[in-house]
Amino acid sequence: MEISPIVQNENNIFLTPSEIMEYLFCPRFIYFIHCLNIPQHEEQRYKVLMGREVHKKKSKMNKDYLREKIGCIKRELLVYMVSERYHLKGEVDEILFFKDNTIAPLDYKFTEYKERLYRTHKIQSILYSLLIMDNYGSQVKRGFLCYVRSKNLLKEIVFKDGDFEKINDIIKEIVFIIQKGYFPKGTHYKNKCVDCCYKNICTK
Ligand code: SF4
Repeated sequence: MEISPIVQNENNIFLTPSEIMEYLFCPRFIYFIHCLNIPQHEEQRYKVLMGREVHKKKSKMNKDYLREKIGCIKRELLVYMVSERYHLKGEVDEILFFKDNTIAPLDYKFTEYKERLYRTHKIQSILYSLLIMDNYGSQVKRGFLCYVRSKNLLKEIVFKDGDFEKINDIIKEIVFIIQKGYFPKGTHYKNKCVDCCYKNICTK
């Protein structure tokens, strides 16, 4: 039996950074999850939930440490935000406030730093920046990542103007899929399909 896609009002669509990462892994994930209401395997959800718990514990452990080295004068921890303008929702590990009145997100990564910045980490930082800009009314020009397994190594990402536009375009593509029930093309990288939980229902 063919399932009809669920069509949603654009104003009710709020995406988490994880959902945007899933879209970048394969655009069809968004269609299966949001339009057909078929969740991923429970065990994957469980891993995500466990990851969140570790995140929270680590943030609490570092609660009293103010990042003076980088000129941070105040910080807020585990801030949940929603943005109607960007169709986003999510909790950022820390928001850092600086003497020059700028603000930046800080995201803990439970991986080692491997001499290069992962594209996915940068995109997540941009998404938190969009949430901050819309909720705090401040420009965000940089983000920070803390690599816990590299002795809490702190890395700065300086954003370019075009970075925000590119991510906003990706968000618009996702909103279009959910709003119209549009069935997108799958990933070009067919090796991703081998372990995919949707491989039995996905027409490649
Ligand atoms: S089977 Fe492949 S194309 Fe289909 S949803 Fe999974 S990763 Fe995407």
